[in-house]
Amino acid sequence: MSARQDSAARHHAAPRRELLSQPRAEHCPRYLPPVPARIVTLPGDGIGPEIMAAAIRVLDALGDFEYDEKLLGGASIDVHGTALTDDTLEACKRADAVLLAAVGGPKWDTTDPSAPRPEQGLLGLRKGLGLFANLRPVRPSPALLHASPLKPERIQGTDLLVVRELTGGIYFGESGRDGDTAHDDCAYSVGEVERIARVAFESARTKVTSVDKANVLETSRLWREVVTRVHEEEFPGVPLEHLLVDNAAMQLVSAPSSFDVIVTENLFGDILSDEAAMLTGSLGMLPSASVGGDTHGGPAGPSGTSTHGGPAGPSGTSGPGLFEPVHGSAPDIAGTGKANPLAMFGSVALMLRHGLGSEDASAALDSAIDRALQDGIRTADLGGSHTTEDATAAVLAHL
Ligand code: NAD
Repeated sequence: MSARQDSAARHHAAPRRELLSQPRAEHCPRYLPPVPARIVTLPGDGIGPEIMAAAIRVLDALGDFEYDEKLLGGASIDVHGTALTDDTLEACKRADAVLLAAVGGPKWDTTDPSAPRPEQGLLGLRKGLGLFANLRPVRPSPALLHASPLKPERIQGTDLLVVRELTGGIYFGESGRDGDTAHDDCAYSVGEVERIARVAFESARTKVTSVDKANVLETSRLWREVVTRVHEEEFPGVPLEHLLVDNAAMQLVSAPSSFDVIVTENLFGDILSDEAAMLTGSLGMLPSASVGGDTHGGPAGPSGTSTHGGPAGPSGTSGPGLFEPVHGSAPDIAGTGKANPLAMFGSVALMLRHGLGSEDASAALDSAIDRALQDGIRTADLGGSHTTEDATAAVLAHL
């Protein structure tokens, strides 16, 4: 997919961005196509099934979709002994889009390295679908400025995008134990850094902040070299700054509105995007899109192959995107009806826009979410007492 289309993820959070208002590919209708889109749904664990059920009610209010529900994570371990079966992965590859709630929970926590873990399902899915870029728009809703732990004046005007590299680095390196020592290796190739840098530059409105730890880590020095070269050769007009990750973590809470696009490697992106989530007041508010394909017409995924060998999907990707809230399975509130479904709904909106090319349906859902918040809907994570059902009904009422 082109990074310009990648960058449309920002459109969800940042309709003012000129770069994002580019027309989509001609195979991207602004309405739901007559043939129902095939969505693989992965409810997962904890609050996952609760917020997925709410998401399907919202989708059903927007149009006709074909759902194929599959197990992932702990739920899959319980039935199949593995967090991601071949059958689930194949179904995802054939789908138009994949909608995931969350996986994991104490039931499957283990220190036995040979035991299956729910997160393996998520990592396997990202790798199997060739999803190398995770886009997380962060724009605190005006109705929620007071729900943030930061002062409203500090977060006002924040409108940023975290572009996280998703399939490289320490999460995918060699790991192991030798006696009383454990190791996790971090590796990045030039190609991996180039393609994520392009996504970031093409998504930028005012500047790109590349985050690394180049004063300590060799992978970070390679990262900085490659980002700098891609900038000089391909995007000299986009201002670029480099920040060390510790400094970036501080600035994200002290001056979040100073950021536009933050691009960083897998581990740093995992941490910084959760930190950025708090700007919105709750993890329960933050959606994400994971996309693959090549931004400059090269091979599709990290393996260089298209995930399903067919034509490009509605968003121009070589395979389906994965759309999921940033938060986890929240086992502490699972089954209580307290889960905030809005990040899940936001992920549905990203899926409609990116995975299914349904701009109108996506905008309608975004607007319904905003209006439900303006009406005063607040789940417990936002300091209120509304339930998942209340929040779902409020959004449905505005569709
Ligand atoms: P978490 O995001 O599940 O929960 C952190 C805190 O935020 C909890 O207090 C939780 O109640 C609250 N919270 C999260 N989502 C919420 C929502 N929608 N509404 C209301 N409150 C919400 O993170 P954690 O506690 O570190 O992890 C719990 C499990 O989730 C672990 O097994 C972890 O591995 C897994 N996890 C999965 C994903 C994923 O599936 N993408 C991401 C992160 C963590």
